[in-house]
Amino acid sequence: MPVCKLCRQDVPKLVKSHIIPKSMYGFRHLNGDKGPTKLVPISNDLRGMRPKRIPSGLYERILCHKCEEITSKFDSYAYDVLYRRTKIPIKNKIYPVGYIIRGVNVYNMLLFFASLLLRMSFSHSAAFGNVNLGIYEDRYRRSLLDGNIDYLGGMDGFISFYDNNLSATFMNPYKSRIFNIMHYSISIFNYAFDIKVSDNQEYPKYLKVLNIGSMEDNLILIKRDLYNNKNFQIIAQKIKGGISV
Ligand SMILES: [Zn+2]
Repeated sequence: MPVCKLCRQDVPKLVKSHIIPKSMYGFRHLNGDKGPTKLVPISNDLRGMRPKRIPSGLYERILCHKCEEITSKFDSYAYDVLYRRTKIPIKNKIYPVGYIIRGVNVYNMLLFFASLLLRMSFSHSAAFGNVNLGIYEDRYRRSLLDGNIDYLGGMDGFISFYDNNLSATFMNPYKSRIFNIMHYSISIFNYAFDIKVSDNQEYPKYLKVLNIGSMEDNLILIKRDLYNNKNFQIIAQKIKGGISV
């Protein structure tokens, strides 16, 4: 019998799981009524493999039905918060530098990130080959199975939002050091998630109001400028080099 990667039980069968939430994959907002926009994956490794179009939303049979339901619950929650809720601008004079989304259960958001990272780590696809959670894999599994954030340890991070209609790209996740703390950086459509996978290290004090875990019921989005972003240059170079989509 196959084994579910999340609960590690022998199960009669494994169901299809989307590694990137399906709701975020066929993101309709960018394309009006013309139907979902397909994500175009971009490799962030300039010397790496050529990016290829991911067929019909990358999914794999890695979870049992029950575990798929657990991950779907947090996917739906995150989709609702990130794509449906009102973003209130935080302005510097007249120019927004960030946004606040009120009434958010940030613990559910952290569980969503745990579930996203776990699926990437379980995946056999080269697109997620950079994600290896090590000792955090078991902790995140337990958090999801028990619905208990205590096992997440020091998981935290920053959410950035690009509001200038970034094209439908998904950049494969990569490890990054932010304030010398280990993070995974994940870009999906207009969002970049920098998720801290580390227990003991804390962010500098002055930033402690921006991180996901800083407030219990408000989420801060940092507005980022696509054109001054390193990723933008990488994407441009990739496309110039002949991206195969
Ligand atoms: Zn399971």
